[in-house]
Amino acid sequence: RPFRERKPSWFKVPPPGGPKHRELTRMIKAENLNTVCVEAACPNVGECWERGTATFMILGDTCTRRCGFCNVNTGKPTWNDPLEPARVARSVAKMGLRHAVITSVDRDDLPDYGASAFVGTIRSIRMQAPQCKVEVLTPDFRGQEMPLAKVIAERPDVFNHNCEVVPRLYPVARRGSEFLRSARVLKNAKLMGGDEVTTKSGLMVGLGETHEEMVETFAILREHHVQVLTVGQYLRPTERHLPVVRYWHPDEFKALEEAAYALGFDHIAAGPLVRSSYHADQHVPQELPG
Ligand code: SF4
Ligand code: SF4
Repeated sequence: RPFRERKPSWFKVPPPGGPKHRELTRMIKAENLNTVCVEAACPNVGECWERGTATFMILGDTCTRRCGFCNVNTGKPTWNDPLEPARVARSVAKMGLRHAVITSVDRDDLPDYGASAFVGTIRSIRMQAPQCKVEVLTPDFRGQEMPLAKVIAERPDVFNHNCEVVPRLYPVARRGSEFLRSARVLKNAKLMGGDEVTTKSGLMVGLGETHEEMVETFAILREHHVQVLTVGQYLRPTERHLPVVRYWHPDEFKALEEAAYALGFDHIAAGPLVRSSYHADQHVPQELPG
């Protein structure tokens, strides 16, 4: 059941997608693929697709974890689709994307937690759309190094793993996950990938955290070699999900952004509508002409 909550005045509703958006939506449906852009009814879809950025969700729509803020189905996944990497790559090529984000539900039921599907998808995109930058937004692989090493060996342009909330809120908002385990995944990704892989993480505000807690969390992420950070407002998907404790004002996002730059991040996107993949193309070093 759709859930509408009164939002503060600084939430501007962007115009719905135009003809290009409709055409791409049809194509993605025909390929039997899931994009977060459509499934999550992301407000940025018109802008992102126009800019050549989209986020694909691989490995099905059923997650083995149950985070209190997330609207993805949870349960025992059955999805097993060996041809999905090739179809994602074909869509990336047809859409003419410049920056593809590949993400998945958590698949704690699989022996490699889904890492080989990320590997296959990166390889297929490199073959079918060699100009496109690839960002992977992965689960924590339960902190295991082997699945992470497999993914990093493919040299994605960006390795992204969202920590989502400050450590204090993990027991309520992120059961089954551990903040420091996630931070260590990011650090290991940087140690394995070196200069070729940019590391990135994302956090939400609005679940009861303070400015000071956010800045402390930024500092921990910097200690774990995270280079790029996104910070956005939590919106409650349905009445069954955690309530919004507070809508942060744009000035407060600005203050978070300044604090994060002072800690030495390369790039920060902070604002009410910022999502993990919003303006993702700007977070990677652009190649110089020639
Ligand atoms: Fe898609 Fe991410 Fe852009 Fe939303 S912010 S439209 S999920 S690429
Ligand atoms: Fe949602 Fe990710 Fe949590 Fe699964 S692990 S419930 S997909 S936020």
